[in-house]
Amino acid sequence: MAILVLGGAGYIGSHTVYELIDAGRDVVVADNLLTGFKEAVHPKARFYQLDIRDRGALDTLFQAENIEGVIHFAASSQVGESMSNPLKYYDNNLYGTMVLLQSMVAHGVDKIVFSSTAATYGEPESVPILETDRTQPTNCYGETKLSMEHMMSWVSKAHGLRYVALRYFNACGAHASGKIGEAHNPETHLIPLILQVPNGQREKISVFGDDYPTPDGTCIRDYIHVTDLAQAHILALNYLMKGGDNNVFNLGNGVGFSVNEVIEVARAVTGHPIPAEVSPRRAGDPAQLIASSEKAKSVLGWKPQYDDLNTIVSSAWNWHKAHPHGYEK
Ligand code: UDP
Repeated sequence: MAILVLGGAGYIGSHTVYELIDAGRDVVVADNLLTGFKEAVHPKARFYQLDIRDRGALDTLFQAENIEGVIHFAASSQVGESMSNPLKYYDNNLYGTMVLLQSMVAHGVDKIVFSSTAATYGEPESVPILETDRTQPTNCYGETKLSMEHMMSWVSKAHGLRYVALRYFNACGAHASGKIGEAHNPETHLIPLILQVPNGQREKISVFGDDYPTPDGTCIRDYIHVTDLAQAHILALNYLMKGGDNNVFNLGNGVGFSVNEVIEVARAVTGHPIPAEVSPRRAGDPAQLIASSEKAKSVLGWKPQYDDLNTIVSSAWNWHKAHPHGYEK
């Protein structure tokens, strides 16, 4: 039987496919290639170009393939865009997930692991954040991911499907092989944008706000390597296959770095001065997000391998240096 990875041509999806194939699994990838790249799809995966909002295409896939479980990454994921175009997020993330669940229920596929986010918490009451803490998103992206979790829960009660929601903190870094890495168009994430400066594609990095209630005034985030995230999806799927119940897990390193600290680490890794300039706050950004991932460690047996920001930024730099334009020729 095969594992279906929706959004398997995207950043975290493609890394998860590599880990699944390394673990000897049969993998089917589906992606609409609107933000993903065909070149990121592992050559041993069977690829379907489809949109999860297309019920007919999903039904055809479930009829053609013997799918044991689904890992669902196919969603829009930019905080800033979700604030200016919220309906795109309701359409792709919520409506898309609804169509996917309809098709899964119709075909008796009853296990799903999916990407949720630290943005479900909004401004945290305290750090590190626990899965039981209040969820009150401050941006539409986080709101749609929280609604996806709720949708799974109701569908589970009615149809017996089981799910694991993985609330990622800040995904970064690239695969050790150098074959795949982070590539977004347009790029909005901090580490790839910083690395565009030593790559000669940008003169300076903008720091979005230096008046947050943090020690240096810039936002604090918990940066977690994409390969560690990928491993967590495999563990979560194994957990469901062993009969595990619906669950939600944070995935982070439990250590926060400010925007200024990340820039400093990138200067050390690249040996480039990387000029920085303070600019206005970005809408919807909480001041500080740091995970407690104790639950993923104890229940899933997850052990992040890349727990040092220097190593993480070095792995990102290896990829960006060799692929300054991502997958584009
Ligand atoms: N950020 C920044 N300059 C940039 C891009 C991002 O200062 O050019 C900040 C952003 O405001 C946030 C942090 O870097 O505090 C991480 O942002 P990113 O978009 O990478 O991830 P997010 O936290 O939105 O998931």
